[in-house]
Amino acid sequence: MQNLLTPEEIAVQAGAEDLPHRLPAADVFALRAARLRQLADGHAMADFLRFAAHLADAQDTLLRHRTPETRPDDAHLQRCRQHGMPPIGAYDAALPADWAYLLQAIAAEVAPHAPAGLQNALADLADFPRARLDALARDILRTEEHLANAVELALAPLIGASLQVLWTARARALQPADVPAGFEGSQCPACGSHPVASILRIGDGGHGVRYATCSLCATEWHVTRIKCVPCLNTRDIAYQALDGASGNPHPAVKAETCPDCHSSLKIVSMERDPLVDAFADDLATLALDMLVDETGFHRAGRNLFLFTP
Ligand code: FE
Ligand code: FE
Repeated sequence: MQNLLTPEEIAVQAGAEDLPHRLPAADVFALRAARLRQLADGHAMADFLRFAAHLADAQDTLLRHRTPETRPDDAHLQRCRQHGMPPIGAYDAALPADWAYLLQAIAAEVAPHAPAGLQNALADLADFPRARLDALARDILRTEEHLANAVELALAPLIGASLQVLWTARARALQPADVPAGFEGSQCPACGSHPVASILRIGDGGHGVRYATCSLCATEWHVTRIKCVPCLNTRDIAYQALDGASGNPHPAVKAETCPDCHSSLKIVSMERDPLVDAFADDLATLALDMLVDETGFHRAGRNLFLFTP
């Protein structure tokens, strides 16, 4: 015999599909690595995607073996909830003393798979000035990186990968109610960073629910469909997708373009492919960014495996 649900239970279940945000799961990097390998098969940038998968493997190992982070204290969490401030804000955050250990561990892990350009940079890493590494990490957290040379450009994705491990661990120490809700915005409600892309998940009712995925801590926050995430405009939103000789090679990915701020953010759809990962599918569809760029929209997503001089 089945018990009838109380109104409270019904309310809880109905809310499950429209959670205001989703904190990162323990296997976030493992799933990402698997998706990157799947996308690499037959891809024009297969080597790059396979290398990114090795980076995600290294991140997975570090996250699993890391001592869980301490949850911020109650007064801080309450202040953040009240004012819609990110409780694990990245912008002005102090770096833990051992952050460079993460970088060294990732470097050691991926070295056997690294492309030639990165091999040289990795060889220099042991002698690389620690103060400069700290400065690069802080700049990446502030989205203000100025990469001075080829070595720094090659190391930046590894620094980004280390910071992702740290902030994903910090986000995992949070409880869902710790993250400010009701402030739908263009930046992560947990850490304040930019989204890498957005993802259309399948809600319990079978309809799509859209979340933006944080480029740093992997937290997802609910965003309205057909709305520009960077500027929150809802008018004249349009979509672009790839078009190959034999149809769209990535049918689960489209770019949402906004005529107001001229930016574009990708949407990866679980309705089209249940295995999509915002970060991995973003890396596999850089051709779409070029297409969108040619029509006058700039890429709003931030991917910490991608840096330009
Ligand atoms: Fe975040
Ligand atoms: Fe916009």
